[in-house]
Amino acid sequence: MTIRVHALEGHPHVLTPLRFTRAISGRPRLDAPDLDDRGWAMPRPPGWVESEARGPMIGITVGDTIRLRVEREDFPLNASLFVTASAGGAPQFKIAEPEGGGALPSDGVFRVEALEDNDTAQTIEIRLGSTEGPILAEAEPHVFEPLTLRVVPHLCTIHSSASGGSGKTPEVQLSRWFAEARSILRPAGIHLRLDGMTRQSYLGFNRDDLPRRPSGTFSGNEEATLVSQGYVENRCNVWFMRYMEDSKGIGVNRDNMGSEGFENPGVLIAVDGQWSATQGVEVTDAASRDQVVANDLAHEIGHFLGLSHAGQDYADDPYHQRNLMHSRNPLSEDVDAGYGPKMRGALVTLKVYPNEEGDGQAARLRDRLRQPNTAKY
Ligand SMILES: [Zn+2]
Repeated sequence: MTIRVHALEGHPHVLTPLRFTRAISGRPRLDAPDLDDRGWAMPRPPGWVESEARGPMIGITVGDTIRLRVEREDFPLNASLFVTASAGGAPQFKIAEPEGGGALPSDGVFRVEALEDNDTAQTIEIRLGSTEGPILAEAEPHVFEPLTLRVVPHLCTIHSSASGGSGKTPEVQLSRWFAEARSILRPAGIHLRLDGMTRQSYLGFNRDDLPRRPSGTFSGNEEATLVSQGYVENRCNVWFMRYMEDSKGIGVNRDNMGSEGFENPGVLIAVDGQWSATQGVEVTDAASRDQVVANDLAHEIGHFLGLSHAGQDYADDPYHQRNLMHSRNPLSEDVDAGYGPKMRGALVTLKVYPNEEGDGQAARLRDRLRQPNTAKY
């Protein structure tokens, strides 16, 4: 086997004949996380274990087994590859499949089981020919103890009439949406736990099925009225309604609820689409509704836990389109960031690039969840 390299004098080179990718494309799945493969450098959050690896980082929750895939880049298909977990110290994870480390199947998929969140610097190694062959690619899983976010959904029926009866109750698929949102946040070691559900009815709003916000000639703030009703202390409260004005969702935390005019932090999700005074109703495409709502749910929970939007100045950059905190969903361009046409991705970043504002999203989410209830909720 020959690999030709054209080296430029005076420039350091890293050869990457193989790379790691998500095991599947399409909708988020609990056992198929996205990888933080932005560059080969490993700028980690302070205090994280550091290995010598250069490559992607992957977040895994203790007890979970996930799938990853090795992609061959200009590399012979008949060369057998093996996957090993580096040795030394109490392991954070083990290779669960293929048994004995290889050879990798033709689709390149292997499984990793997270064992313990400890201080061992451990890497995944892809080796040529045997489990003792030369290392061709490395990746660094970061194993997390799970942290739980307790969530209370509220189903909101909004009537323009003061006596009720004209608005419709939103049709929700809570277990399906929360299962997908759980898959999205799982690589940050976050578990969403549903704690009951309430039904709320609102009378005398400006329109049926949606809360108005201050815009144009309308000066009221019905979103603020909405979140003042049904609020449960020490929980992430999520109000579901049919439509919202000029948005499909918002997530507000204790730091910015004042600027929204809210007396409580929380998340608002429009399940059917959005409405604007000039355009009227824009209904979310039925085929993609579940995916859009579930992704919005995870995105707004990200805001609720203090995350900001990713890559505001680089909205069409593929890495940012893959990021859960991209500002648009669905994407306005007809692109596929790996999650289906026009779908915003679900990557929660692990690395911390200093020129990327708000980066290291997993560590930020976890820091927030470790705060006392009065700060995190
Ligand atoms: Zn947002």
